[in-house]
Amino acid sequence: MAVLEEPIKEVLDIKNYIDGEWVESAGEVKDVVNPATGKVIGKVPISTKDEIDATVAAAKEAFPDWRRTPPLARARCLFRLKELMEENFEELSRVQTMEHGKTIDESRGETRRGIEMVEVATGIPSLMMGYNLEDIVTGIDEYLIRQPLGVFGIIGPFNFPFMVPLWFAPFAVATGNCIVVKPSSEDPISQVKIAELTEEAGIPPGVWNVVHGGRTVVSGMLNHPDIEGICFVGSTPVGRDVIYKGCGDTGKRVIVMCGAKNFALVMPDADLNRAIAACMTSFYGNTGQRCLANANLIVVGEGLSKEEHDAFYDKVVDAFVTAASRIRMGYGLDDTVHMGPLRDAGKKEKVLRYIEKGIEEGARLRLDGRKVELVGDLPDTCFVGPTVFEDVTLDMAIAREEIFGPVANMMKASSLDEAIEMIHRIPFGNAASIFTASGKWAREFQYRVECGNIGINIGIAAPMAFFPFSGMKDSFFGTLHGQGQEAIRFFTESKVVIQRWF
Ligand code: NAD
Repeated sequence: MAVLEEPIKEVLDIKNYIDGEWVESAGEVKDVVNPATGKVIGKVPISTKDEIDATVAAAKEAFPDWRRTPPLARARCLFRLKELMEENFEELSRVQTMEHGKTIDESRGETRRGIEMVEVATGIPSLMMGYNLEDIVTGIDEYLIRQPLGVFGIIGPFNFPFMVPLWFAPFAVATGNCIVVKPSSEDPISQVKIAELTEEAGIPPGVWNVVHGGRTVVSGMLNHPDIEGICFVGSTPVGRDVIYKGCGDTGKRVIVMCGAKNFALVMPDADLNRAIAACMTSFYGNTGQRCLANANLIVVGEGLSKEEHDAFYDKVVDAFVTAASRIRMGYGLDDTVHMGPLRDAGKKEKVLRYIEKGIEEGARLRLDGRKVELVGDLPDTCFVGPTVFEDVTLDMAIAREEIFGPVANMMKASSLDEAIEMIHRIPFGNAASIFTASGKWAREFQYRVECGNIGINIGIAAPMAFFPFSGMKDSFFGTLHGQGQEAIRFFTESKVVIQRWF
């Protein structure tokens, strides 16, 4: 066991970052706990309505100067931010592991993806260009320009504390807007570290603000007349009923990215070794706390007799269970560990309740994650091991509801048609994967499945920073998505000018 050095050595007194200043909050304070060790690593404030109001006022004041800053000068700030993130890459990654629990490799992947958002946003002079046409009528030209709108709110979930706010923040700032980021209060430290770097990168005061807290801050954003739009990533009930509805009531533009229950299909012609390896990352990576994680695996018997299908199913499930039993659990800063804890004891309780429910519903518990063996001497407060259920059907809660933990459900479908129909029977539409060598089956799958992110021989279909991060049905509300060109459109208004040349 080789535990890497912890970058957080004493309990951090976390402050809000408002108008370029680190400001103490008057709100109550909550502990930020390292879920692997149980140690308190920070004290985060639950900010007040006055504090969110003051932040929006500061951002609004910073807006006129920032929007007049030429796009290339704004891009230079982002180049500096990217360089600083590279210089601090390892520290940023270890902080994520300490505050969230994920393994260091997973954190490094998250840091890389976050940096890529900043890199893509540095292309703003080209990304933000409009277009024009001469002589729409002789002597009259018409052109379109994109303009920033003002202040945007960004509300993050706990599961990717570094990367998710960066699906939006660099694009908002690059286009000339100012932002207020509200990280999850469960793991807010990564966004503090980013804010420190924005200061060093020369992003002017008031442009990039961070306010910690919960519902008060969120409703303060939703009801604030000077917030133009909100980007939210989190659970479906909050996203749909609080954020999407709230933005509808107050007329704000909105991106709402929500919960998921994703399927992986294994076809008879799949490369099984590769499919199982991909499934391990997909089902158990980030301890199952990932909106793109697969949760239901369907072994498809297309073209097989019943006996052949049964034998194929057994082969896939055996290989899955064997690989899952080899997963080593422990502190993510130990780089021999494959899977860390869940974020907190409450999340563990929820996963354990679902395991009990699965048993009650008649699913067969093939691998029991309630019995955990940990690498190192750690409290097992937040750990649940890889779990596998067999004989799962879609009327069971474990198959329909988002568990957000390391629980895999094994299912059967006799044909691709039936498997696609099963995917469509649940309300979510975030992601789906197929493992196959057949171009025909892959094409059929990507064409018909009602999910925003499709993986073909890929377990985690995470779009790169220059593609939109999509989603359908109860996994997404809004029109435009985060990342790339769609984010540029979200954060700008098109203005059309018609000019007569006398
Ligand atoms: P959550 O909905 O509990 O919290 C998200 C944010 O909303 C947090 O900042 C939280 O403080 C705030 N919040 C929570 N309850 C609120 C309320 N009642 N009123 C106002 N604000 C509130 O989500 P979470 O547990 O932090 O994150 C996990 C969820 O996020 C999962 O459902 C996961 O699938 C989803 N997620 C989706 C995507 C995607 O791209 N679709 C990506 C990552 C996570």
